Amino acid sequence: MKLDILAFAAHPDDIELACSGTLIKHAKLGKKTGIVDLTQGELGTRGSAELRAIEAKKSAEIMGLEYRENLHLGDGYFEINETTLNKIIVEIRKTQPQIVLANAPSDRHPDHGRASELVKRACFLSGLPKVQTTYNGVNQSAHRPKNVYFYIQDHHIHPDFVIDITDEFEVKMETVKAFSSQFYDPNSKEPETPISTKNFFDFLDARFREFGRIAGVTYAEGFICERAPAVSTLYDLK
Ligand SMILES: [Zn+2]
Repeated sequence: MKLDILAFAAHPDDIELACSGTLIKHAKLGKKTGIVDLTQGELGTRGSAELRAIEAKKSAEIMGLEYRENLHLGDGYFEINETTLNKIIVEIRKTQPQIVLANAPSDRHPDHGRASELVKRACFLSGLPKVQTTYNGVNQSAHRPKNVYFYIQDHHIHPDFVIDITDEFEVKMETVKAFSSQFYDPNSKEPETPISTKNFFDFLDARFREFGRIAGVTYAEGFICERAPAVSTLYDLK
């Protein structure tokens, strides 16, 4: 399964909240897109791991993903070590993406920062032939993605670039709502969380409008990168 863009997330629903519009847009352009969720989000206050797996599948169909995998690392407790790095490397080598998307280096949920560092390191190590991994008993070849971009999720971070998702915003919100156990549901008897209030949808609308304003469009998603994004001429910048 070769992919063009592979997005990693600490929890199922991180991508939906932060950058599903970007994945929808590139899938529409014919790019092969995929997601690897590191954990099942099993410590989430609402819902359950089983429910979130069903919701993730529904969202994957809406996004037009070619691939969605869950590594079953421990929600809240996964660490950056040889075992977890190698699990990520196996996924990178299996799907050979040019572009990897990862959580922001620092965010409200501490798992996001660790996932960010874990994926960044794995992308580098994946390019070293002496780092050996196997998949289905077969040795994998080294593969380093060309670029890693970090999606902005909860905490405000000034973006290095934004992607116009005006045409994709409505479908993006459908991917968020696919996780109905996590977000606003007037009939839910589960405890309220910072993301389950009606207000949270207003926040999302405002967040993507704010990033859109930078590009002179209605809605956009924000990203940061380690090195300055390069373009050929000044006119390639919007
Ligand atoms: Zn998360």
